[in-house]
Amino acid sequence: MLAETWRVKIVIDDDVIIEHQFVRTLKAVKCPLCELDVKREKIFHEDKWFITLRTENLKGHRERIMIVYKEHEHSIPRKLYERGLDIVSKISRNVFSYTPKAVIMDSTFATINDHWHLVVTDLDPTSEDFDQILATQWVTVVDNTAEEAANRVYSSGAV
Ligand SMILES: [Zn+2]
Repeated sequence: MLAETWRVKIVIDDDVIIEHQFVRTLKAVKCPLCELDVKREKIFHEDKWFITLRTENLKGHRERIMIVYKEHEHSIPRKLYERGLDIVSKISRNVFSYTPKAVIMDSTFATINDHWHLVVTDLDPTSEDFDQILATQWVTVVDNTAEEAANRVYSSGAV
C-alpha cells in the first residue's frame, strides 16, 4: 500500500550494470485490517476511532465480530481502549443474544497483532478455533445469563 520503491543502477567496470530495487515501508503493507473492504462486511457500528464488524472468516461460529481501531497502531491510549471495549460489549449483547456467553479475546497473540483490534466469539465447541479460544486470554466475558439471573432473584423475592 504505502511503500516507497526506487531503482538504483550500480555500474561496475563500465559494462556490468546491476539494477536493484529498494523498498521502504512507510506503513504496514498488506495489513488486512488497513485494507478492510467495508462495503463487503456487515458493519455494526462506526465512529471516529473504531469500526465494529463481522469477521470475514467466521471459523465455524454463528457470529464472530471484531472492533478495529481505524489507524494502524499496535496499542491505543487507555481512554480509547475503554471506549472501544464499552462499544463492543454493548454490541455483543445483541449479536450474541442467541448464546449464554461470548468472550472478548485479547489480541496479543493474534495473527494480526500490530494493528489494534479485539475479536468477540461465542463458545461453540465444534468451531474451528475452539482450542485456540481456550488458550487465549480473555479481556472479558459477555454474559447474557447475568441479567436473567438477576431477574430470577428479584422475582423470587430474595434481596
Ligand atoms: Zn493495519
